[in-house]
Amino acid sequence: MKKIALHWKIMIGMLLGIVFGFSMTTISWGKGFTGDWIAPFGTIFVNLLKLIAVPLILASLIKGISDLKDISKFKTIGGRTIVIYIITTVIAITIGLLIVNVTKPGEGITSETIDKLTSEYAGSAKISERIAEAGKQKESGPLQFVIDMVPQNAVAAMSDNKLMLQVIFFAIFLGISMLLINPKHAEPLKNFFDSLNEVVLKMVDLIMLTAPYAVFALLANVVVTSDDPDILLALLKYVAVVFSGLLLMIVFYCFLVSVITKKSPFWFLKEISPAQLLAFSTSSSAATLPVTMERVEEHIGVDKEVSSFVLPVGATINMDGTSLYQAVASVFIMQVLWPEGLTFSNQITIVLTALLASIGSAAVPGAGMVMLVIVLEAIGFPSDKLPIGLALIFAVDRPLDMMRTVINVTGDATVSMIVAKSVGKLGDPHVKEWDDHYEEVK
Ligand code: ASP
Repeated sequence: MKKIALHWKIMIGMLLGIVFGFSMTTISWGKGFTGDWIAPFGTIFVNLLKLIAVPLILASLIKGISDLKDISKFKTIGGRTIVIYIITTVIAITIGLLIVNVTKPGEGITSETIDKLTSEYAGSAKISERIAEAGKQKESGPLQFVIDMVPQNAVAAMSDNKLMLQVIFFAIFLGISMLLINPKHAEPLKNFFDSLNEVVLKMVDLIMLTAPYAVFALLANVVVTSDDPDILLALLKYVAVVFSGLLLMIVFYCFLVSVITKKSPFWFLKEISPAQLLAFSTSSSAATLPVTMERVEEHIGVDKEVSSFVLPVGATINMDGTSLYQAVASVFIMQVLWPEGLTFSNQITIVLTALLASIGSAAVPGAGMVMLVIVLEAIGFPSDKLPIGLALIFAVDRPLDMMRTVINVTGDATVSMIVAKSVGKLGDPHVKEWDDHYEEVK
C-alpha cells in the first residue's frame, strides 16, 4: 500500500466501501452491523476534520494577512475573489438552466412515479424539516447575513462550525490590526500563529493517513442507508442532467486553469483529487476545507496570503455545484408540477435567487435542498405543491449532494489559483509526500 499515491488509496477505499455496502444490504443483518460497527469510523474522521477547521482558518488567515507587505494587496485579493466567485456561480446557474431547458428531464416522469414518491416522502419529517428551516432563513431581513458575519463573542463563534464567516471576520480583523501596530509588538503573536499553522497542517497530514479507511466507512454507510434502486432509475434523466452540468463545470475550471494560470489542467485535477474524493465521501465542503487548503498550498503552490482568505470564504459562500443543482432541480420540479410557471422572468429570478441561495447555503450535507425551497418560493411556486416537489428529488439528493460538493470544492481551488496568479502569488508546489510525513512521524 505504501507506494500507492494517496488518491488511489482513497479511491480503493471508496470502491471497497461501495462493494461492502451492497453486500451488506443483501444480508438481513447488514444494515445494523454497518451502522453500529462501520459508520462510526466515518463519523470520527469527519469530526476530526471539523475539529481542525477553526484553528486552521484562524492561524492561516492571521498569518496570511499579517505577512502582507501592504494592506492594499488584501483589498485587491478580497475584491477579485468576490467578483470571480460571483461570475463562476452565475455561469454555473446558466449552464444548469440551459441543459435542463433543452433536455426537459421532467417531461418523462409518469404519474405513477409522482404518486410513489409523494406517498413515500412528501409527508416525511425530513422534508418538513427542510421547509421549516427555509422558513426560518426567509424570516430574517435582507441585511441579516451581514449582521451574522460579525460575532459578538469570538470564542462562541469558534465553538460552532456553522459560524465560519464569523471566525473569518475575526481573523481578518485581528490580522489587519496586527499590520497596523509596531511590528515589534506584532512579532510574538505572528510567530504563535505561524507555529499553530504548521502544527495544524501536520494534523491534516495525520488525519489523511486514515482517509482510505474512513471513506470505506462513509461510503458503506451511504449505500446501506440509500433508497430503493428502482426510484433512482425513474429519476435517472434528472440525475444525468445534474451530472452533465457538473461535468461541464469541471471542463470550465480546467479551461480557466490552463488559459489563465498556464498550468496543466490534468496536473491540477491530480493534485486536487484527494480533496475532491473527500468532498464526495463527506458531502461537506466545510469538513473538506482543511484538506483543500493543504492541497492548494503545498501541492499546487498557491501562497498562503491568497489561499488562507480565498478558500475558507469560498467554502462558505462559493457553491457553484449547489447553485447549478438548484437551477436544474427547480426547473425540473416545475416541468413536472407547475409547467405554467416556466416563464422567462421566473428563470431570471432563479438566476438571482440561486446566486444568493448558494451564498447562504451552509457547507454541510443537504444544505442545498433547504435553499432550494427559497428559490422555489421566490418564483411563486404553489406552496401546497412544495412538499411534493421536494419529494420528487429527495431520493436522489444524497448522491447529487456528493457530486455537487466536489464541484464546490474544485471551484474554490480554481479561483484561488486565478487570484494567486493575478497578484503574482502562484509559485511552485512544495510537496511533502504523505508517506514521507508518515516516515518522519514514525
Ligand atoms: N453539501 C454541499 C457542500 O457542503 C452543500 C449542498 O449543496 O448541500 O458544499
